[in-house]
Amino acid sequence: MSGQRERIVHGLRVVIDRDQCVGFGDCVREAPEGFELDDATVAVFANPEAVERERLLRACDACPVDAITVYDETGKQIVPRPA
Ligand code: SF4
Repeated sequence: MSGQRERIVHGLRVVIDRDQCVGFGDCVREAPEGFELDDATVAVFANPEAVERERLLRACDACPVDAITVYDETGKQIVPRPA
């Protein structure tokens, strides 16, 4: 049940690295329509298309262990913000 999950949402490529996820649920709290925790308390996509772009980005950025990566339309990584 680990590995990566990927979705294209609002033109953004969102990748959940389930091996990194520690299940605190910050992403779920910020965008409950977009993410949920599975039976193993690891994040999966729910319906991320239902979350407006800015809040989706905030939810991905909220992850304390950077388990969610987002790339913009040009393929540039925007979450986590590159140093
Ligand atoms: S915020 Fe990160 S660590 Fe927490 S549930 Fe979401 S993906 Fe997992």
